[in-house]
Amino acid sequence: MRIGVLALQGDVREHLRVLTALGAEAVAVRRPDELRSVRGLVLPGGESSVIDKLSRAFGMQHPIREAISSGMPMYGTCAGMILLADRITDGIVGQETFGGLDITVRRNAFGSQSDSFETDLDVPVLGDIPVHAAFIRAPLVTRTGDDVEVLARLDDGGVVAVRQGALLATSFHPEVSGESRFHQLFVDTVRAS
Ligand code: GLN
Repeated sequence: MRIGVLALQGDVREHLRVLTALGAEAVAVRRPDELRSVRGLVLPGGESSVIDKLSRAFGMQHPIREAISSGMPMYGTCAGMILLADRITDGIVGQETFGGLDITVRRNAFGSQSDSFETDLDVPVLGDIPVHAAFIRAPLVTRTGDDVEVLARLDDGGVVAVRQGALLATSFHPEVSGESRFHQLFVDTVRAS
């Protein structure tokens, strides 16, 4: 089963490594024909405004939007979550997203003092063992539409993992903390699609 990682910018290699370890055929995706060859796509962490600009420059914005509307499973971490959000606040001027998830996210929501932190999260859909999550200049989900399932919250109630149909997104980076259950959930979604 071939799964792509959007490879315009960001932590592409880490995702390829986790997906490969889970038995998927993981490939870097930069061009529309590469997108057509995969059954699911990971949008990595990095800088969402840069990935947005490069996706337009490489002619990938429309193919990715079409893939989302046709139901291709996608998993976005951090910047990838921003790219899947229908609405963003604190984006740079002119910043666009692919959209698909009926959520509003605030970019860099955790301020300069705690740009980065790690914490353990309860994620009931993944079982009893908490997820060790690394937040790196992370976004926060500030609004969720009726069809959005909240998968994890911080202690203060802030939403940091969501799912809607075939789209999955986390504010944090499981791929950097040795956590593979979100990727497994995603691989299962791709297999079932
Ligand atoms: N702050 C970054 C952005 O706006 C996201 C950071 C990350 O992906 N680690 O895209």
